[in-house]
Amino acid sequence: MIDLLQRLLPRSLRQPTPVPDALWQSTLAAHPFLSALDSTEQGRLRLLCTHFLTEKEFHGANGLVLTDAMALAIAAQACLPLLHMHGTSGEAVRDPLKLLDWYGDFVGIVVQPGAVVARRKTTDGAGVVHHYNEVLAGEAMDRGPLMLSWEEVGSNVVIHEFVHKMDMRGISLGEHPDGAPPLPKGFLGTRGASEARQLWRDTMQTAFDAFREAVAMAERFGAERPWLDDYAAKDPAEFFAVTCEAYFVNRERFAQDFPALVALYDGFFRPAANAQ
Ligand SMILES: [Zn+2]
Repeated sequence: MIDLLQRLLPRSLRQPTPVPDALWQSTLAAHPFLSALDSTEQGRLRLLCTHFLTEKEFHGANGLVLTDAMALAIAAQACLPLLHMHGTSGEAVRDPLKLLDWYGDFVGIVVQPGAVVARRKTTDGAGVVHHYNEVLAGEAMDRGPLMLSWEEVGSNVVIHEFVHKMDMRGISLGEHPDGAPPLPKGFLGTRGASEARQLWRDTMQTAFDAFREAVAMAERFGAERPWLDDYAAKDPAEFFAVTCEAYFVNRERFAQDFPALVALYDGFFRPAANAQ
């Protein structure tokens, strides 16, 4: 109830419920990529989580009872990508809480106990309507709530879905996300937004094509399967989301296969470190 009122206040005036120490420490311990952060980063992450938990409404679906530990595990992974970012308009932010604007288009987070089977419908070029089922570990909709399967929260679905949300900020209403989020000013030394976008698209396209080729070689000709989850080969938006999981969770291994993307993502997620 208190949090509901807090949500009506501007962030700077809110006094969100602090995250208890023991809970914070156990959350860090449960996620090696969070315990690996330095103490400044962990402090910033904790601050973001505290406000995130006030701003978002968590719902357990199908009988799932959400504990504070579960909500914090989700919050911490959702806020991890924000740590060193610039704001949504591309500028460096003085107040780290401004970074939560990246997720400002929605409030609800629905957590399902397991994967969800969604009934889908598409119309093909001949006008024939096809119905099919899709098994979802999570789902992000532009300007809509986010769905996560708790079973999959341990396997990076949180980072995946929240990165989709960032991607969606780069599209107009009604468009599909395309793996090209809005970029920070001066992105990797580029001199303007269109040059930045071009660099992003060229680098992504090259990496995506090479990855699809590697997946196809494995499927058709028995070549070694790529290390990265082949769901990334689905389309550019999924390629962005899956490679971001790897970037945040296992940077060293990711860098072996995708050195160009490490540099590109550093420019997006850590623009200040890159400007120097
Ligand atoms: Zn996805």
